[in-house]
Amino acid sequence: MQQQEPGLRVYQMKEIPPKCPSCEDPLFEVLENEYKTYVFDPASGTYKDHEWKGDIEIRCPNCNATLWDVFPDGACNYVSEDEKKADEVNE
Ligand SMILES: [Zn+2]
Repeated sequence: MQQQEPGLRVYQMKEIPPKCPSCEDPLFEVLENEYKTYVFDPASGTYKDHEWKGDIEIRCPNCNATLWDVFPDGACNYVSEDEKKADEVNE
């Protein structure tokens, strides 16, 4: 693996956000809403996170389209195509 100065790398590589598949706007902002379900736990008298009944919604702030195709792992886990290629080269 090749060592590079992080600051230099950011300067050289120009990352652009993916486009919304619906309105074609660059996704500089993404709306992500997480809906949680809590279950009352009689033993402790508190509510616990439901293990499977949760939902996450990812939407375009411009046209409100859902963006699961663009962010299958959620917006916070998104890695640009250029970054993926760079990783492959380094391995
Ligand atoms: Zn859109």
